[in-house]
Amino acid sequence: MNNLIYLDHAATTPVHPDVLEAMMPYLTTQYANPSTLYAFGREARAAVEDAREKVAALIGADPSEIYFTAGATESDNWAIMGIASATESKGKHIITSTIEHHAVLGTCEFLKRRGYEITLIPVDGDGLVNPEDVRRAITDQTVLITIMHSNNEVGVIEPIAEIGAIAREGGIVFHTDATQSVGKIPIDVSALNVDLLSLSGHKLYAPKGIGALYIRKGTRILPYIHGGGQESSKRAGTHNVPGIVGLGKAAEIAQATMAEESAREIALRDRLIAGILAIPDTRLNGHPSLRLPNNVNVSIEGAEGESMILMLDMLGICVSSGSACTSGSLAASHVLLAMGLPHELAHGSLRLTLGKDTTDEDIDRVLELLPGIVSRLRAMSPVYEKAGA
Ligand SMILES: *Cc1c(COP(=O)(O)O)cnc(C)c1O
Repeated sequence: MNNLIYLDHAATTPVHPDVLEAMMPYLTTQYANPSTLYAFGREARAAVEDAREKVAALIGADPSEIYFTAGATESDNWAIMGIASATESKGKHIITSTIEHHAVLGTCEFLKRRGYEITLIPVDGDGLVNPEDVRRAITDQTVLITIMHSNNEVGVIEPIAEIGAIAREGGIVFHTDATQSVGKIPIDVSALNVDLLSLSGHKLYAPKGIGALYIRKGTRILPYIHGGGQESSKRAGTHNVPGIVGLGKAAEIAQATMAEESAREIALRDRLIAGILAIPDTRLNGHPSLRLPNNVNVSIEGAEGESMILMLDMLGICVSSGSACTSGSLAASHVLLAMGLPHELAHGSLRLTLGKDTTDEDIDRVLELLPGIVSRLRAMSPVYEKAGA
């Protein structure tokens, strides 16, 4: 679409042109199955292994610890189900947080219906988990701690290294969903003390439908997808060679450009935040500095998130409300509610997430249009009655 201002990179990103170019041979001439023995297949195999090295390098892992999946939803499901089924005789208690992605919360909910005890660690007003709360929740039945690296709605970066140290001390397997962090901020699985880490291609300029699970060497985990012997017999299914090659290329690009690009996005982000907060009765959601370089999440009193989204959409601007993944439903964001926001403010939230193609002019345009939209919605609002509004 021409003149589209896309500010929803937390939902998905465009495929980087260099990623597409790297993938093209594997969508056309290089179509061999990498599990075959002839030279044509070995070439595909080499491409898969090259991509594995690039993904490993991005997160400080060994290539043998990277397992390709169909995305972060599968990685999260596998991490939780795979550890639960490997530790059934040890205990049935899992610790997670109230602000996880639904891929984690839904899997924990599934296990709860099958007799697991799930502890949901709360967050503070900034969206942060307190590591001491995790420590206090551990029992002799605890088999897994799963806390996200950064939140997809409010961009808050959680104290994962500290939580990892606590898990390590207790001898408990620790998983983190780092889908929003990988490619944007430095991630090192050793420094973070994590045993399992989920990531997804389409959040870092690779295609949808490809992801990976990092599994620390020596971690006892059962497969989740059963079938053939691919991925060291841990994840069955013919390799998505084009997707894997694309993810590898995206990881390589992210590693090379991260420092410069994150500084650029932080400057745009902070200008956008300052401009929105200049509108009266607005607030920033999520910690101001422990925050992804590309995330802006604000609540605007007297203006419903859905209404703002539709009005911005008519002007060619794509943004989300706090309530991600539940479009069509008017449920307030579970993340904002967990942070203690009243329902009105949770409904009046807007998430704007920047990316590599976001320009100064894009930010100018949003800041030029948003105040008028807010004024119009407030004028129609039955609840917003601030003097002079
Ligand atoms: C997008 C996202 C997912 C789901 O990833 P898919 O590859 O779309 O399945 C999981 N967790 C977080 C934090 C995400 O942002």
